[in-house]
Amino acid sequence: MNDNLQAKQKWQQQTAALWPAIKGSLAKVYKPCIRKNCRACQRGDKHPAWLLSWSSQGRRRTMYVPHAMVAPLSKAIRNGRRLEQLLYRTGPELLRKYRRNIRNP
Ligand SMILES: [Zn+2]
Repeated sequence: MNDNLQAKQKWQQQTAALWPAIKGSLAKVYKPCIRKNCRACQRGDKHPAWLLSWSSQGRRRTMYVPHAMVAPLSKAIRNGRRLEQLLYRTGPELLRKYRRNIRNP
């Protein structure tokens, strides 16, 4: 089972490097504000805002994202995709390893 311990350590290193990882999407939207006589709103420019959207138990959820969190969350979304790729790869890897062990006990 030394083989299994090595695989576990490799997994821990790979996943640790992907923290933080999230699922969801960021979108830039333009919203009107509540100020009276706002020039930006009167021009029709409105105000840029970022939203994070994700699914939770089949429901679409959304939260406002402060500007300082846009870059960290973009990175977390990329990490989430890498983590997902890692999960898809792990099934076939486990099966190949099992077959090798059967042939060379
Ligand atoms: Zn405004």
